[in-house]
Amino acid sequence: AESRTLEYQITLFGENDRLLLVRDFTRMQRLERMRQDFIANVSHELRTPLTVLSGYLETFSDHAEQLPTKWQRGLTLMRQQSTRMEHLVEDLLTLSRLETSDLETAVEPVAIDQLLDSIRCDALALSGNQHEISLDVDRQLRIHASDKELRSAFSNLIFNAIKYTPPGSHIQIRWYHDRAGAHLEVTDDGPGIDPQHLPRLTERFYRVDQGRATSTGGTGLGLAIVKHVMLRHQGRLSISSEQGMGSCFTCHLPVTRIFLVSP
Ligand code: ADP
Repeated sequence: AESRTLEYQITLFGENDRLLLVRDFTRMQRLERMRQDFIANVSHELRTPLTVLSGYLETFSDHAEQLPTKWQRGLTLMRQQSTRMEHLVEDLLTLSRLETSDLETAVEPVAIDQLLDSIRCDALALSGNQHEISLDVDRQLRIHASDKELRSAFSNLIFNAIKYTPPGSHIQIRWYHDRAGAHLEVTDDGPGIDPQHLPRLTERFYRVDQGRATSTGGTGLGLAIVKHVMLRHQGRLSISSEQGMGSCFTCHLPVTRIFLVSP
């Protein structure tokens, strides 16, 4: 027999009356699992043909100068689009792994300060040293977490700060702890986000400016990945922003995961 997921809610009326509400989530859960399996399978199946296409496009590009100009332009466009699809498939696979795999097998002590040093280098390379990135980190603060997942979450936030702010912008990264837990804060002084978009930013494929987002090469899955990584670590993502003033994305991790090392 199939096990069912039920939720009971009892409401009291006056002295003696009770209302019992029973909700059956079994069907919803089954559909959700089917959705997750479908996305995981499709992403997996797309991977191999995409690798073959990208490989050949790369080879053709090595000999592009022998082609007529019109074809060269076509080849460049095909390469850009296949790279975009590869990123999309990778992000979809990452999300479906986050939704289905067991976190505890991946937990280890993570030195976030070193992780942030390395992400900062990658971010500066992405920006072509056009942004200023300052780091203010507690080097004694460590965390029990998945190194791979936190790297993916924190890089998404820091790379977004590069992608959505003009050259010359300043990005401030802070890693600190207080009584509530550990916090990774990424603040930029870029164009900011209209407040009406904030509640929907972590939805899959939600973008503020569809046209611009395509040119930045994003997949629309970055913040959904950050949110899932936080949920898996019993943490959360908070976002504040004001148009024209910049944005601030903060990952909060629970106090139970942190420990301190001597300097
Ligand atoms: P994408 O792959 O499009 O970057 P994300 O989920 O990472 O997707 O981000 C969703 C949207 O949030 C982006 O398309 C962008 O409009 C907005 N956004 C994210 N970070 C910033 C930022 N630092 N400043 C302004 N807008 C941002």
